[in-house]
Amino acid sequence: MSTLLLRNASLVVTMDEQRREIQDGAVLIRDNVIEAVGPTSDLPTQADRIINLRGKMVLPGMVNTHHHLYQTLTRCLPSTQNAPLFSWLQTLYPIWAKLKPEAVYVSALVGLAELVLSGCTTTVDQLYLFPNGVRIEDELRAAQELGVRFHPCRGSMSLGESEGGLPPDEVVEDEGSILADCRRVIEAHHDPDPYSMCRIMIAPCSPFSVTTQLLRSSRELAQSYGVQCHTHLAETLDEEEFCQEKYGRRPVQYMADVGWLGDDVSYAHGIHLADEEMKLLAETDTGVAHCPTSNMRLGSGIAPVMRMREIGVKVGLAVDGSASNDSSHMLNEARMALLLQRVKHGPTALSARQVLEMATLGGAAVLGRDDIGTVATGKAADLIAIDLNRIEYSGAGDIVAAPVFCGPVSVELSIIDGRVLVEGGRLVGLDLDSVLRRHSEIASQMRG
Ligand SMILES: [Zn+2]
Repeated sequence: MSTLLLRNASLVVTMDEQRREIQDGAVLIRDNVIEAVGPTSDLPTQADRIINLRGKMVLPGMVNTHHHLYQTLTRCLPSTQNAPLFSWLQTLYPIWAKLKPEAVYVSALVGLAELVLSGCTTTVDQLYLFPNGVRIEDELRAAQELGVRFHPCRGSMSLGESEGGLPPDEVVEDEGSILADCRRVIEAHHDPDPYSMCRIMIAPCSPFSVTTQLLRSSRELAQSYGVQCHTHLAETLDEEEFCQEKYGRRPVQYMADVGWLGDDVSYAHGIHLADEEMKLLAETDTGVAHCPTSNMRLGSGIAPVMRMREIGVKVGLAVDGSASNDSSHMLNEARMALLLQRVKHGPTALSARQVLEMATLGGAAVLGRDDIGTVATGKAADLIAIDLNRIEYSGAGDIVAAPVFCGPVSVELSIIDGRVLVEGGRLVGLDLDSVLRRHSEIASQMRG
């Protein structure tokens, strides 16, 4: 048993039930769990380790609900910078077909490091291509080495071009092998317990890259193990047209018909949703991962976040893959979420505190977790601290809103599961320079 005491923080933003913001705050951590939170003067003065946070603000670690870490290898390619989703994908599929196990591992290290430095402590990742012997373990190893709380999705594509799907046949897998590997991965790595560091999700890629049968059988398999399901949905009008033409239904109705609604299902994007579809998501407690930067970058549209919040759809925040963002910066994503809703609904749409809530509690709810997203007694010790004495915040009148309004920065401190991952603004225990060197080499080889 070891204790870690964070004290003298200028402010502790708890996101607890009362949404307390505690001045001169402290947090006592025992092993991997928060034991006490309050004013510094009310907490013990001794611990195995003490970190003084004068001039810093503590927040719950943020939860990223959708990503493709391998895409850090294909950021801002000239050929994809100005393309809509379908042609963007068709350009990238042949490059992604060159992925190898080491490429998945190194790109996951880079993307995860970027997430952690920007305030994320729990992330989903959807890996849906498995060429050249790639396995989910290649990215899981990176998360375990760094110490990030991870929800890896065993993704899949089975509907190749010759069957009317979007991806070329060489990147799709046989459905029997997909399901067998989903089963293997769940049995080997899924941990349903509180404070779990690894929960597997089952995640066929999208309605236009898998068959109806695979959606059905993936859902049944996930339900039989009690794991969550995840996919892309209602991202573009092209997808809506595809579903209408091929299946005679809009995307949400199509997914509803194959059993994909419930508190254990989440959809990335959720842009093109009719009001009755949003109501269906709310009634069934189905979650949405909102990806504002990707949606702007690909010109996909503005997700109806205000309406979803109003009627009670669970909405979390997500950076999406690094080929459509092209960054894995969580604080920046919070900023984009706030700004994008204001483009449509004016300056009273989404406040800074509401987007921070979406990035913490919102994401935890989408992932069906009540042990993260809050700085409170009994919760997982996942938290970040931001240095307030930075040029970006100088003169800020509301320090809680500053990280959203004043621009994204790196965190000063990140603790995940009671372990310090970032201190003094630097990753602890990772030789980032050599990782970045190898990452650049692999990216260059894949671009050919
Ligand atoms: Zn995505």
